[in-house]
Amino acid sequence: MKAVYLTGLREMELRQAPTPNLAEPHDVLLRINTLGVCGSDIHYYTQGKIGSQVVAFPQILGHEFAATVVKVGAEVKSLHPGQRVAIDPLVACGECDQCRAGRKHTCRRQKFLGNPGQLPGALVEYLVMPADCCSLVPDSLSDDEAALVEPLSIGVYAAQMAQLGPGARVGVLGSGPIGLCTLLAARALAQQAAVYATDLVEERLAVARACGAAWTGNPQRENVVAAINRLEPLGLDVVFECAGEQVTLDQGIELLKPGGALLIIGIPEVDRVSFNINLMRRKELRILNVRRQNHCVEHAIELIASGRVDVRPMVTHHFRLEETARAFELVSARSDGIVKAIIRISPAG
Ligand SMILES: [Zn+2]
Ligand SMILES: [Zn+2]
Repeated sequence: MKAVYLTGLREMELRQAPTPNLAEPHDVLLRINTLGVCGSDIHYYTQGKIGSQVVAFPQILGHEFAATVVKVGAEVKSLHPGQRVAIDPLVACGECDQCRAGRKHTCRRQKFLGNPGQLPGALVEYLVMPADCCSLVPDSLSDDEAALVEPLSIGVYAAQMAQLGPGARVGVLGSGPIGLCTLLAARALAQQAAVYATDLVEERLAVARACGAAWTGNPQRENVVAAINRLEPLGLDVVFECAGEQVTLDQGIELLKPGGALLIIGIPEVDRVSFNINLMRRKELRILNVRRQNHCVEHAIELIASGRVDVRPMVTHHFRLEETARAFELVSARSDGIVKAIIRISPAG
């Protein structure tokens, strides 16, 4: 089969690889239809690492995808060949204290697709996964939408964690795909939520407006904190930090009302950040870290299938597997108005 390897920093190579065999009774063999390029893939592409996770080249990236079931193991009753699925790319051990507590996303022996030293990624034609990681998608969902279930599930998880009430005033700082998914989930989960979205890239702000943002602002053009304060003089209930930058963490602390919550979803490139502890203390802010998602895949599928969330405005570009290098280059440069890049892997996809 064809596979795309990251062979060095900013170097991708299409190679032949052995097609995997179904060996375990609880596994399924999948044909990958479409794959979304994720910000974390880009970290590995440009830096070769995220924190302590360091790539040993060559490495196959990719974990956001839609697939068709080709074969199922002897013990798999829930899935059949020909069915289409969305994926939870985390394989949990099922036995540790975290798994037993229902926190498989912080499983102590977890393996994540496309993470160094864990599991190979999905920039391939065929992949074997545990059936537990696969969720059926209805025919009404396109392969693009099914590939976006994974990032949307992160937005759903973050919005649930924020416990947004009706009419919540919400900030989304950083309107890349995860910020946009959080915006969509916040609007779907909290009636009449008003979302204030920021980004440095104008095209992303246009997509944020298409996704229902009440207001968008570019910090390169205006003081976004002052602008949001004018519209919301009491401050925001919740800020989702989706950029992984010191400046957006600072903006979040400033924008929140007393008792508000800052949810950190962005992945910083540095190991340490700082907070204005006096401001945080005086407002008694809550700081919550979001690690991927937990049990939100089905909810994300249902939100798209029911029409309550429309992820399609995020998809700006399509590529073939052979064009993966170009897709990664555009996403890392944030050029050509790119928001979500989708790679079509199976010709029928
Ligand atoms: Zn991702
Ligand atoms: Zn575990």
